[in-house]
Amino acid sequence: MLIETDLTGVPVVVVGVPSETGPVVERYERCGAVVSVWDQPAAAGVADVAAAGAGHTGARLAVVVGRARSWPETTGLRKRCIVVEEPAASLSRGRVVLVGAGPGGPGTMTVDAVRALADADVVLADRLASVGDLARFAPGAEIVDVGKRPGHHAVPQREIEALMVERAQQGLTVVRLKGGDPYVFGRGSEEVAAAVAAGLPVTVVPGVTSAVAVPGAAGIPVTQREVSHLFTVVSGHAPLTSEQAASLARLGGTIVFLMGVQNLVPLTSALLAAGLDRDTPAAVVERGLTPDMRSLTSPLGRLAEEAAHARVSAPAVIVIGDVVRQSDVWARRLTVREPSTSGTGTGPGERAQRHTASGPERVEAG
Ligand code: SAH
Repeated sequence: MLIETDLTGVPVVVVGVPSETGPVVERYERCGAVVSVWDQPAAAGVADVAAAGAGHTGARLAVVVGRARSWPETTGLRKRCIVVEEPAASLSRGRVVLVGAGPGGPGTMTVDAVRALADADVVLADRLASVGDLARFAPGAEIVDVGKRPGHHAVPQREIEALMVERAQQGLTVVRLKGGDPYVFGRGSEEVAAAVAAGLPVTVVPGVTSAVAVPGAAGIPVTQREVSHLFTVVSGHAPLTSEQAASLARLGGTIVFLMGVQNLVPLTSALLAAGLDRDTPAAVVERGLTPDMRSLTSPLGRLAEEAAHARVSAPAVIVIGDVVRQSDVWARRLTVREPSTSGTGTGPGERAQRHTASGPERVEAG
């Protein structure tokens, strides 16, 4: 449930049975509300919650939770208070929601991702899930940064899973926020398995993956009619074996490496050794879909050298194949249009214009 207002000092009455109200009370208290709870008014001989309780506390906001929504004793509340109803289903038990945040700023989150954050009691966020001011999307939630940052070690995977399970077992809705799509090199399946093993309900909100969206932001379509009818997404975390390089070279189409910047030399060398032409168009797109995005294009034979020269660093996506030529078409489009300075749009076109307005991010080689 989204609570956007600062509720510091605001009296709020929460109505419902304890097994259903716990997380709600916690959430409102975190927003600063002074919460009083009305539990089973009929059992206490109360005919009307508003008359009996909300009046004394001065509450103008009542939250009626789960089965309490059908209690006749809550009827009078509507005359005195703003009444918010919350379903019991998501509250009676904690749950885990794995959410893909997309590769860039908040504009690359899906509507479902935004909704999941608004509903979160706890957010465990990765470094790559850089959606800006997370507290704005998850007001009232406890936000835990489990990502690696310069000078800090990432929280180990097993500890993240343990924390996720522990908080959900406390009855809380835990959002595990991950960069891009949770299932693309994101260890999403391990986290789902941990939630399932703990008997917790778990859902997955897919995200926009950098493998497709980041090349796209640089004007590179991963497929193009009559140019490439397939694309292969490969982890560049470790160098390719010669068999893998040979398979990729034989397969053709577009090759997309994630996590490959540190290994550009061995990756490109392996593909050249496997028979790819030195002149095959290639690109590295750094910090795609963020204001600091840069893209560099170069023939494959010189890509590693050019990227080192331009000091390209992670996160970056490497794209190899004839589709990269399309980035020239895109670049021409950018130069013929007036750069926008309004910065209000969120579509790809708008983003591309803001991108040109902020400086020379496109580096060309060869
Ligand atoms: N689950 C993520 C990928 C995680 S692996 C997804 O679906 O996008 C991390 C790698 O993703 C990085 O090393 C980089 O190759 C890529 N990546 C993620 N965000 C990126 C961005 N904004 N720009 C460039 N590459 C990005």
